Amino acid sequence: MQSIRDLDPATGEVLAEVPFTSPEALADAVARARAAAPGWSDVPIETRCELLAASAERLLDRAEELADLIVREMGKPRAEALGEVRGRARGLREELDEIRRALQPEHLHPKSGEALLLREPHGVVAAITPWNFPVGMPLDLLVPALAAGNTVLFKPSEHVPLVGAALAEILGATLPDGVLQLIQGGGSVGAALVASDVDMIAFVGSRTTGVAILTAAAAGLKRVVLELGGKDPLIVFEDADLDSAADCAVRHSLRNAGQVCCAVERVYVAESVAAEFERKVLALARTWESGSGFDPKAKLGPLVSAEQREKVRVLVDDAVAQGARLVLGGRPTEGPGYFFEPTVLADVPEGARLVREETFGPVVSLATFSGDEDEAVRLANDTVYGLGANVYTGDKERGLRVAKRIKSGQVGVNRYLVAAPGAPWVGQRQSGYGYLGGVDGHRQFTVPKTVGIA
Ligand code: NAD
Repeated sequence: MQSIRDLDPATGEVLAEVPFTSPEALADAVARARAAAPGWSDVPIETRCELLAASAERLLDRAEELADLIVREMGKPRAEALGEVRGRARGLREELDEIRRALQPEHLHPKSGEALLLREPHGVVAAITPWNFPVGMPLDLLVPALAAGNTVLFKPSEHVPLVGAALAEILGATLPDGVLQLIQGGGSVGAALVASDVDMIAFVGSRTTGVAILTAAAAGLKRVVLELGGKDPLIVFEDADLDSAADCAVRHSLRNAGQVCCAVERVYVAESVAAEFERKVLALARTWESGSGFDPKAKLGPLVSAEQREKVRVLVDDAVAQGARLVLGGRPTEGPGYFFEPTVLADVPEGARLVREETFGPVVSLATFSGDEDEAVRLANDTVYGLGANVYTGDKERGLRVAKRIKSGQVGVNRYLVAAPGAPWVGQRQSGYGYLGGVDGHRQFTVPKTVGIA
């Protein structure tokens, strides 16, 4: 039987061998989910939300254990892993309240009689998730899907199968049989899940996989929500507070070793302040010590896998070959694990792959522009992606003007972009297909139905 070889990215050691869910077991799980769906959707939404809210305590009780697992399986600094678990647990009840409100029936008033707008679950949802926030990303899909009354088949990333299993156990402990089931495996199992008798696919992951899922889902006209990658720009105008802009550039290029969908991936700095800005970036980037996520001094963990590190190396080498100036780092770190040096590149040319493809590595990529607003907007939008963007300028009006012209779901002006409470998380263009969170996002896990009453 095929299995996941679960590796510790800081050492390369094997943590576990986790068997793939077999085709027979997958078919059985889908049938159980289908059988459980009517009963779960009949449970009042208030009760469903209460049952889910009860998992907040369990998440908090097991936060330390989960944080250790996260560090072992994907390598991020332990304090960040713990923050991810605790933050999500503490926000769970509020999120469920928002979902409950978003899905309440609405009384409408047609020309005669009355009408009721109901929001019904789709039925069986496949939730397929990445590894970079191995608790946060699954919860983004599982909580609204389940609260809306769907049954769910959850496939965590093959890089974090143990975190996925623990999360399914914690969330599923108070749910009826068949409502939440765990599916383990890599892309082939994900593809089989998409092709199975599910009604909706909720996915967070790469653009490439998103395209494959949308294509496969088309045959059955299955509902699809996709949250995909990004290539976020950061624009620094000449009148910006250079210290806070440099802090944003470094922190959000290097955080989680750059493995964040809304990481800063391209920095465009007005020519007149480029040299000063580069000095500030360099000074900050030098403070990012790498090491195991269990080392409290280390801000930079390993990349998740040897393949991911190789991809970053290839993109950095290509940029340098095309004329970029290597200011710091640029190489895989010697020794065990999949570490890559904190890297700063300047004068990265527009044609470099580093400017086109999602890097997902610890690289600050600097380029200059004339300082002109139109040019800044053109550069920011010169990508197929549209997840996030950041603009730094001393002129708030200009910041807002530029923010409005950048095609992305979230823009920060003189701050790192923000997902505001109540607002959905949105990938515009090829960064997504649908939304997560907020009223718009929650409602996608349901289908509206109007009942007219004489
Ligand atoms: P990935 O696309 O390689 O894998 C994601 C999941 O899809 C995994 O569970 C994988 O097993 C599964 N999968 C792979 N091929 C499949 C197929 N053909 N059919 C069905 N499932 C399949 O992505 P990843 O490397 O795990 O995650 C990194 C990506 O996720 C980055 O592009 C990042 O930007 C993106 N991401 C986006 C957001 C967001 O909110 N927009 C958040 C986090 C991560």
